[in-house]
Amino acid sequence: MDYDVIFIGSGHAANHGAGLLAAAGKKVAMIEADKLGGVCTNYGCDAKILLDGPFEYLDGLNNYQDLGLQADVQIDWSKLMDHKRKTLAGFQTVFEPLFQKMGVDIIHGRGTIIDAHTVAVGDQHYSADNIVIATGARNSKLDIPGKDLMQGSTEFLDLDTLPEHMIVVGAGIIGMEFASMALLAGKKVTFFEYGDRPLKAYPAKYVNKIVAKFVDQGAVFHFGQAVAKVEETVDGFRVSTQAGVEATGDFVLDSTGRVANVENLGLETLGIEASPRGIKVDEHMRTAVPSIYASGDVVDKTIPKLTPTAEFESNYIARDILTPDGPAITYPVIPNLVFTLPRIGQVGVTIDEAQANPAQYKLVEIPWGKQHDWVNNHEQDAELTLIFDKEGYLVGAAAISSQVGTWLDWLTPIIEKKMTARDLSAMIMSFPTQTYVLWSTLRPLLKAQ
Ligand SMILES: Cc1cc2nc3c(=O)[nH]c(=O)nc-3n(C[C@H](O)[C@H](O)[C@H](O)COP(=O)(O)OP(=O)(O)OC[C@H]3O[C@@H](n4cnc5c(N)ncnc54)[C@H](O)[C@@H]3O)c2cc1C
Repeated sequence: MDYDVIFIGSGHAANHGAGLLAAAGKKVAMIEADKLGGVCTNYGCDAKILLDGPFEYLDGLNNYQDLGLQADVQIDWSKLMDHKRKTLAGFQTVFEPLFQKMGVDIIHGRGTIIDAHTVAVGDQHYSADNIVIATGARNSKLDIPGKDLMQGSTEFLDLDTLPEHMIVVGAGIIGMEFASMALLAGKKVTFFEYGDRPLKAYPAKYVNKIVAKFVDQGAVFHFGQAVAKVEETVDGFRVSTQAGVEATGDFVLDSTGRVANVENLGLETLGIEASPRGIKVDEHMRTAVPSIYASGDVVDKTIPKLTPTAEFESNYIARDILTPDGPAITYPVIPNLVFTLPRIGQVGVTIDEAQANPAQYKLVEIPWGKQHDWVNNHEQDAELTLIFDKEGYLVGAAAISSQVGTWLDWLTPIIEKKMTARDLSAMIMSFPTQTYVLWSTLRPLLKAQ
């Protein structure tokens, strides 16, 4: 065998596990058809958060308008884009030597699996005891006339100038996040959404607040609409729905979802079951061919397709290869965030689940912004819901606030480790901070010990 393990793809579903295996002395390679680091690094999370930075600050400044603060700040999108491009290009220069130093060979090209132990890249064949498919997912495209006039998230995150009027087809996470930036920059946004509200997986009461804010900023939402076609006009594009609703703009974003990259991998010949939802795996992340695993966004799974879940799976696979008779994969609670302005997010048991089972769960709703204005950067609209089981353990949380990421990351170990008031009392927090207030709020609500 040329290698112990070959990963197809170099995103988070591959590179963490590859590093672990190399550190344990295994001979490892990653095959990458595009840029090293995958979607998150180049076209997703990192690209987005680099651009979002100044918008987050501007949104925070706007919270002080009622106290007389005039935030006359202009965001220079093209300079920001330049910064994003330079930063991400810098990553590419360090990744390859870094992986090599870690002991991971990089093979540039498109990998196709030939048999249970062989991957072809062009004319070259590479053999390995194990193969890990970590080919990720891509923007799906609505199959309608004019579909090629619509752009995806990758194109939005590389625009030289922000569109004057963006039409968003599908009010999901990506569409809502990008609209937050465009609206704050004073641009127009029109949404067409098939369902009756955006972000169906997130609490309606928080999503409604975001929708109301967007509408205040000039956004137009068309719910219950199936987009039927996109046409070119003299100065842009016209989007029409089956019901005859229309909008014209200079950029159309198709954010109707993502599909797994399962094509041209040789899966059919090997009898590996796959669909646009992804590859079927067992509880050890193995496909129907025992020597071949799948990891990350390319997996058909019900848990959120996120970077941390991809990383978790790649590390699990590395351990499963190193210790073959180990346990099945079990996921801890997974915090997930929408990077709108403000953010919304949740972890563990959801508000809907808790409300549907009042005998099992207790909800504590905290009007955080109003209650804790003294430490909250005057973000009066911030809210937090804590969910406890009947024994008094924290089992879930949901929130709307610029601070949701910090809060959820702080609450996640308390849920996961089933911490009690006694555990929290044994800690000292810094002061005055929002996490201190979270700690002091949570302590009396938790199971005593
Ligand atoms: C706009 C956007 C924003 C996002 N924001 C967040 C966020 O804020 N937080 C979060 O947790 N997640 C976010 N995500 C999701 C996150 O990017 C994915 O969950 C993560 O990238 C999955 O990692 P992966 O390794 O499974 O796949 P990918 O990162 O997609 O990597 C797969 C790699 O495989 C390569 N490849 C595919 N086929 C082949 C082949 N045959 N041969 C060789 N190479 C191949 C691809 O080129 C790619 O580099 C975002 C996604 C998008 C699109």
